[in-house]
Amino acid sequence: MNESYCETPGARPVPVASEAAESGPPYAECVLCREPTEYPESVKGITLCPVCEWQEAQRTACSG
Ligand SMILES: [Zn+2]
Repeated sequence: MNESYCETPGARPVPVASEAAESGPPYAECVLCREPTEYPESVKGITLCPVCEWQEAQRTACSG
């Protein structure tokens, strides 16, 4: 009579939605290399991918 020992409250079956990660929200294109950025399309202004963002930061840092 110790069956309730295994009961774990809150342990629900996880819905299978791993494929949703493949087609996530639309990302804005990088204005320099047209690669998808980490920003959603709804973001206004210039969007840069991590690479171009880093390069821009380097350029800005070195131009002083
Ligand atoms: Zn880029």
